[in-house]
Amino acid sequence: MAVMANALTDERQRTLVALCDTFAPSVEVDTHDPVEKQFMARSASDMGLPAEIEGMLAETMAGEEFEAVGGLLDALAGHEFAGLSLEARTQAVHDVSASDAAACQGLAALRGLTLLLFYGLPDELGGNPNWEAIGYSGPPEAPPTSEQAPKTIMVEEVDGPEATLAADVCVVGSGAGGSVIAARLAAEGRNVLVLEMGQYRNESDFKGLELVGYQELYYGAGLATSEDGSIAILAGSTLGGGTVVNYMNCIRTPDHIRSEWARHGLEGLEDEAYTERIDAVMERLNANTEATKQNQIHRHLMAGLDAQGYEHRPIVRNASLDDDAEFCGYCAAGCPRGCKRSAMKTWLQDASDSGARAVVGTHADRIITADGAATGVEGTVTHADGSTTALRVEAPTVVVACGSIESPALLLRSGIGGPAVGKNLRLHQAFSVVGSYDEPVDGFRGQVQSLVSDVFSGLEDRHGFLIEATGMYPAFFSPGVPWESGAAHKQTMLGYRFLAPFITVGRDHGAGEIVLDDLGRAVVRWGLDDEVDMRMAIRAQVELCKLHEAAGAAEIFTLHTKRLAWTRGEDFAAFLERVESAPYGPQDITIFTAHQMGACRMGSDPQTSVADGRGQLHDVSGVWIGDGSAFPTAPGVNPMISIMSLAHRTADMIAAASGVPAG
Ligand SMILES: Cc1cc2nc3c(=O)[nH]c(=O)nc-3n(C[C@H](O)[C@H](O)[C@H](O)COP(=O)(O)OP(=O)(O)OC[C@H]3O[C@@H](n4cnc5c(N)ncnc54)[C@H](O)[C@@H]3O)c2cc1C
Repeated sequence: MAVMANALTDERQRTLVALCDTFAPSVEVDTHDPVEKQFMARSASDMGLPAEIEGMLAETMAGEEFEAVGGLLDALAGHEFAGLSLEARTQAVHDVSASDAAACQGLAALRGLTLLLFYGLPDELGGNPNWEAIGYSGPPEAPPTSEQAPKTIMVEEVDGPEATLAADVCVVGSGAGGSVIAARLAAEGRNVLVLEMGQYRNESDFKGLELVGYQELYYGAGLATSEDGSIAILAGSTLGGGTVVNYMNCIRTPDHIRSEWARHGLEGLEDEAYTERIDAVMERLNANTEATKQNQIHRHLMAGLDAQGYEHRPIVRNASLDDDAEFCGYCAAGCPRGCKRSAMKTWLQDASDSGARAVVGTHADRIITADGAATGVEGTVTHADGSTTALRVEAPTVVVACGSIESPALLLRSGIGGPAVGKNLRLHQAFSVVGSYDEPVDGFRGQVQSLVSDVFSGLEDRHGFLIEATGMYPAFFSPGVPWESGAAHKQTMLGYRFLAPFITVGRDHGAGEIVLDDLGRAVVRWGLDDEVDMRMAIRAQVELCKLHEAAGAAEIFTLHTKRLAWTRGEDFAAFLERVESAPYGPQDITIFTAHQMGACRMGSDPQTSVADGRGQLHDVSGVWIGDGSAFPTAPGVNPMISIMSLAHRTADMIAAASGVPAG
């Protein structure tokens, strides 16, 4: 919610400047390298970051949230913070963090924001003054012009204070699930209207700049976390949803998951006909291994896996065959070459070609019903100048496909879906351990993801984790680097070119929950409370450390806030013991999830599921769940293909419910 009246007092501003300059301080070093000297000497306030941060918080926070930040700054001011030396300020940050969980979370968030901007804020030429010292090259080329890459999806414009549109089917959310349903129902002649909260951005908008990518294409500008900061949430928010920014790892739904979901009441999931749906999805996305190439991070991962005797395979990617790995490293901010076969480039284009319309910048506020049946959707369209249109869509069929954070929130705001709405939130957890190698890795070059091993996928009761790797981006990565002092953090970042992050993707055993706050916004409640998940978390760290050691890393560190590191020559077994006994609570370690699922699950029991085995709500006819939130349980593999395949089936169910087969 935009509350522009938010502003810090002069006193609070002074404290914020001192705090940002503690996280990214000016440090004098004895070096003959002028670039390194300037980098170490450059503070957050030299780049104007405190004012940037105040502006961002003022724009995005509700009044009481902004006041809480002010309260935190007041608490620091009580220690005369702004007048202290850098050393004393650093100690004060640690002391205040240790004294109170809320202060610890607030300081961690401000530290993350400072570092994100320090390494990500572009200047007017699209560069950042800190990149040269750390050896990050920035995007290799400018995006194509809008003439070279025209926008070809049909967008419906609405204006004025109020507007009404009519459709046979209103699909809310245009990501992996919504796009497939829109395409299939439009293909057989339904009048389909897609509502999408994000904007329509394509190749000509994808500048390869991390920060711009997060702000324009990600849910919550890439800053979303669970309520207590225990996990960072990555999801797309643009026409095409997460498929526009994802890493293109296409994994078919495992057979044992298909059987498990069939036991939840999803008939036919074990049949050949369902296999054909997965085939159809893979084909439409041009999923292939021919274009898969291993960059230096993945070559290290492969060496580690080989040395341990573990099997692995190149991933199947939804990319066109002219995909050039040299330019792939930036595609988490959208693919400027159009090689990524995202939902925008495939299903949504198909939907549009069949006559479907999309209204972008549109937040669906609630679903409207009468006599236990859907009648439409009410939403708010926000225009470029900040003005809004209250939109009413009249439609007898509504498909909820807002992703697993926002789909349950939409149902909760609408008062429909029954007692299970928001429960059973599944978040595949991603842990990362970083290895530093003797030669440059340049982890921003090459394909973001290209190798997978499922050697640990069935550790306990079919729960475990995949081994994968990811690209190395300074703005994304720097907030997760252990921070004990600003100087030490900068020293680590000077070694940026040599770092390789390996990750695990864990199949969660426990579940989180989505609830609404007082303003009707989604709140994610999640923690490593489940014993199996905790054991997996520790095992994941340990196995990643072993892989780096086997691959020849000179140094290894986890993403614990308090540095937990090993240097070759030191006792490795003792290091692993320290990893096993390290804390894993909120703010102790950076955990990510790019896979949110299950909070509006399908199933046969209305007490424990939201939709029936076809995908229609138990309590309201005409409302269907069409995205990853429909999963009865976590699949344990990267979920895009499973979401699309299930949505492919749901489209048929929707068509059958009104007597017409889907195209
Ligand atoms: C960085 C990243 C990397 C990933 N890599 C992979 C990978 O390699 N392989 C893989 O299989 N998966 C990957 N994923 C996960 C995958 O992309 C997602 O699981 C998938 O896109 C989720 O599909 P969905 O339909 O559930 O929701 P989404 O694709 O998230 O789409 C939901 C859409 O709904 C919109 N929306 C939300 N609320 C509203 C509202 N109230 N009104 C209107 N619109 C709304 C959102 O803006 C969004 O565009 C990755 C995800 C990320 C973020």
